[in-house]
Amino acid sequence: MPELPEVEVVRRGLAQHVVGRRITDVTVLDPRSVRRHLAGPHDFIARLTGRTLVDARRRGKYLWLAVDEGDAVLCHLGMSGQFRLGDADTEAPRHLRIALDLDDGVRVFFADQRIFGGMALSEDGAELPPEIEHIARDPLDPEFDAAAFTTRLRKRQTGVKRALLDQTLISGIGNIYADEALWRTPLHYARNTRHLRTREIDGLLRHVVEVMRQALEEGGTSFDTLYVNVNGESGYFERSLAVYGQEGLPCGRCGTPIRREPFMNRSSFRCPVCQPRPRNGRW
Ligand SMILES: [Zn+2]
Repeated sequence: MPELPEVEVVRRGLAQHVVGRRITDVTVLDPRSVRRHLAGPHDFIARLTGRTLVDARRRGKYLWLAVDEGDAVLCHLGMSGQFRLGDADTEAPRHLRIALDLDDGVRVFFADQRIFGGMALSEDGAELPPEIEHIARDPLDPEFDAAAFTTRLRKRQTGVKRALLDQTLISGIGNIYADEALWRTPLHYARNTRHLRTREIDGLLRHVVEVMRQALEEGGTSFDTLYVNVNGESGYFERSLAVYGQEGLPCGRCGTPIRREPFMNRSSFRCPVCQPRPRNGRW
């Protein structure tokens, strides 16, 4: 599932290659991919054709293309959504669901194997689509308020990883980057947010930003060509993972085998020595 760095890589690609262009034609190959556009695929096509793309924006894992007159196309990547760019001669990618033709001959392909993703026109959504108003700012957002986050985090009284995954508290962090940031800090994932020290929260935020920036840098290199892609995996960053998916491999700090534990229907990876279960009830 794409996380913030993967979505940001796509956003940058779209900002570079499609912003400023007018949409001349819209093709919906599978109506399920516009199911969030409640007025249906014909309305989606009619209202998007002829519009000019003015910006590519993101909050957390949500991406939208601002169009003229203050509206936006809200894009959900879901589990497997991908954007690719080509032209009239480009062979359509597998699982193509939506295609946008632009006035400079570029074709924007939206492919989505599992169809959890899709697009919808968001009225007045250019600045921030009302559909995602409840999503908190992400830690890479210049207007992210660390002090307000710390206050809200302490009030949650929940496990710190659970809080990191709560998109209404802080957005853009999924399972992979939560585990990586917790290892770097280091903190056990079940530490109660109410009892975290300010120093620990500051450290955690710093490592969340650091791990995402690093993933972004490593994702940026393959991005010079007219081709944008989210592969639904951690992608380029995979080789740099310290704990996620590293069960049984030695911790990069102390050599202890990394442990995998069930967590919210998924898994958590941690070093049992660097990130011990707190003792003496000090949660
Ligand atoms: Zn360790």
